Amino acid sequence: MSRYQIALLPGDGIGPECMEATHRVLGQMVDRVEGLDLQFTSHRAGAELYRDTGEALPSAVLEDCLAADAVLLSAIGLPDVRYRDGTEVQPTMMVGLRRALQVHSAVRPVKLYRGAPCVLKDTGPGIDFVIIRENLEGLFASFGGGSKVGDEVATDTLVVTRKGTSQVSDFAFRLAQRRSGRPSDGKKMVTCVDKANVFQSMAFFRKVFFDVAARYPEIEAEAVYVDAMSLYMVQNPWDFDVLVMENQFGDILSDLGAGLVGGLGVGPSAEIGEKHGLFQPSHGTAPQLAGKNVANPLATILSAAMMLDWLGDKHDDPVCLRAAVDLEQAVEKVIADGNVITPDMGGNASTSQVADAVCDALVVEAPTS
Ligand code: ATP
Repeated sequence: MSRYQIALLPGDGIGPECMEATHRVLGQMVDRVEGLDLQFTSHRAGAELYRDTGEALPSAVLEDCLAADAVLLSAIGLPDVRYRDGTEVQPTMMVGLRRALQVHSAVRPVKLYRGAPCVLKDTGPGIDFVIIRENLEGLFASFGGGSKVGDEVATDTLVVTRKGTSQVSDFAFRLAQRRSGRPSDGKKMVTCVDKANVFQSMAFFRKVFFDVAARYPEIEAEAVYVDAMSLYMVQNPWDFDVLVMENQFGDILSDLGAGLVGGLGVGPSAEIGEKHGLFQPSHGTAPQLAGKNVANPLATILSAAMMLDWLGDKHDDPVCLRAAVDLEQAVEKVIADGNVITPDMGGNASTSQVADAVCDALVVEAPTS
């Protein structure tokens, strides 16, 4: 029996609707997949909770996240709910949660599903690469710090350490081992994306990356400057397999990636550390859509599939690994059919109709062990 404790954080805006849809799909999986047992706890956290209680992430909620096998979060933040200093709740809460869980590698798949809208006229042999964003340092290490000199100068420091860069690079190579290579020719490769020609910190990031690459001779390693990479992502995205980069670069390029393959409504993410895993869609809370049952739940559902894959890999659990594949295939089928999709992808279905369609599309296979 694969039994896992999952902490759910539905959050704000469209978060609760997307979580409700995902919870329903996961409930179907538990009913139908023999040997899969997911136990859920659900907690309020985020901007609305801060407005009501003065706390965004109570310590009891954080403790439950630390004790759980995985955390599934939907979306956090509301633009009109702010701390006394005028900053939004979301960055402080998310950086705090990431630091507490020590999730050093953020994974953003950029995969074009059949039938999904694509801004590119020519999609070549297909788009299927993964952005790995260093998640705890880089420019975000400065979060909560930085310095200001009067009203004239402000600075933030970009931090790159051997430990952080080794962890995220190693994660990227291990992921490349599990994937089937780039779409153009199946070659397994990891690309370091940096600005090593200008910054010491980036030259160091590249050096540590190649130190790690030496341990994976079967996987090709290369380095590309970030400005060139934003061009290649649009011109020949099929030539890439796994990309690894500093935190801020990953923040920017992963939104570009989501824009390439159907938008934020279908972009999942995983944040992984040595012990903990945090899974959430890459979109925010889209407050103008909240409560209307029109938000696209697929990014949250795909994040749940990534969660099952991570749990299966971590615990060497074929039931969970198979469930992850079945769930992603159900989403693929719903997108390919194109009959039940939300307005952001050109359809007119509701959030709950999409959840029902994913449940209907689930074909549960026995695991291969
Ligand atoms: P944040 O700063 O919290 O990341 P953001 O400013 O990037 O948020 P999002 O809330 O992510 O904004 O969304 C930007 C826009 O994309 C929304 O206003 C909405 O139109 C669209 N969008 C995002 N997520 C979804 C979704 N799940 N379903 C439908 N549309 C979405």
